[in-house]
Amino acid sequence: MAIAPQPKSGILEIEPYVPGESRLPAGVPPIKLSSNETPLGPSPKAIAAFKGAAKELARYPDGASTGLRAAIAGRYGLNADRIVCGAGSDELLGLLGHAYLGPGDEAIFTEHGFLVYRIIVLANGATPVVAPEKNLRADIDEILERVSARTKVVFLANPNNPTGTYLSIDEVRALRAKLPAHVLLVLDAAYAEYVRRNDYEAGIELVATTPNTVMTRTFSKIHGLAALRLGWAYCPEAVADAINRIRGPFNVSTPAQAAGVAAMEDRAHEEAAAAHNERWLPWLAAEIEKLGLKVTPSVANFLLVHFAEDAARGALAADAFLKSRAIIVRRVDAYGLPNALRMTVGTEADNRAVVSALADFLGGAA
Ligand SMILES: *Cc1c(COP(=O)(O)O)cnc(C)c1O
Repeated sequence: MAIAPQPKSGILEIEPYVPGESRLPAGVPPIKLSSNETPLGPSPKAIAAFKGAAKELARYPDGASTGLRAAIAGRYGLNADRIVCGAGSDELLGLLGHAYLGPGDEAIFTEHGFLVYRIIVLANGATPVVAPEKNLRADIDEILERVSARTKVVFLANPNNPTGTYLSIDEVRALRAKLPAHVLLVLDAAYAEYVRRNDYEAGIELVATTPNTVMTRTFSKIHGLAALRLGWAYCPEAVADAINRIRGPFNVSTPAQAAGVAAMEDRAHEEAAAAHNERWLPWLAAEIEKLGLKVTPSVANFLLVHFAEDAARGALAADAFLKSRAIIVRRVDAYGLPNALRMTVGTEADNRAVVSALADFLGGAA
């Protein structure tokens, strides 16, 4: 009797990740505010570096991403030996799960935490443990209450996607101090560059001073290089060693490394993207609130907007209405937020278009 090959336990429990939508049926060029990409695009210097790498395509990349790690280390004052580069921070998060999680282990993440964590935990046969949030914000006591002898990893997106909320560095330090030493704390700081708060830090110092904290960063968000798949992790030496053993030997392509170096060096472009966000994030939040919608305070480059429970004015209807205006935002049902939509801060024109479409939606539905 033929028995079909079976994936490892856990794999079929995974709900496949559904990315933010990017196309509309009619082929209208959409206003895409569904994946937290930057409206400014990448640094022109990164584009030039990417093109320059075309002449090297026949050769394997530098498997150690030496130049890129040096650029990151120089920029942030880090030890380059403790940086690992990956094909997006998703790859690095996956490698951490692969290295530290297996059947019988538990990993904690928060109620509305980034969906990739659950996928990684299940893919490694481990058990996801969900810590409730308070007011859509991670709560360190709820996390600590769920720690057991089996807990191996805590994943914390800070700021979190899709809520846009964050924990202060004092709270993150307190979490680290109270977690057992055997628990790896993974700080996913994909939006760190956008945060303008004195009490926020991405976690570099914690990584430098503890043997069990990792920080991941990405070039997909403020650097505008999502298509290239590029991220990095700052790790304790032993963690860098573990994931370097299991990553693909050439996991970061030559064009991605070249563009990453240029992006890291173009401080002015990064600053322009942060300044754009600093201007338009509060504007967008205030204008949407004026329409009578609740907006979760965000420190990132997107907003979580809450809609009424009734079908006519609900998130599903709003999403359909926005689509009819060629505006694509992100449904967040899969994050346990069926009455909300997540919207990325766009260009000035995009932002004004969203606000006026929402005004029409709410007016029309009256
Ligand atoms: C977008 C995002 C990332 C980045 O993923 P990449 O694989 O680097 O593109 C990581 N974590 C969170 C929470 C994100 O929202």
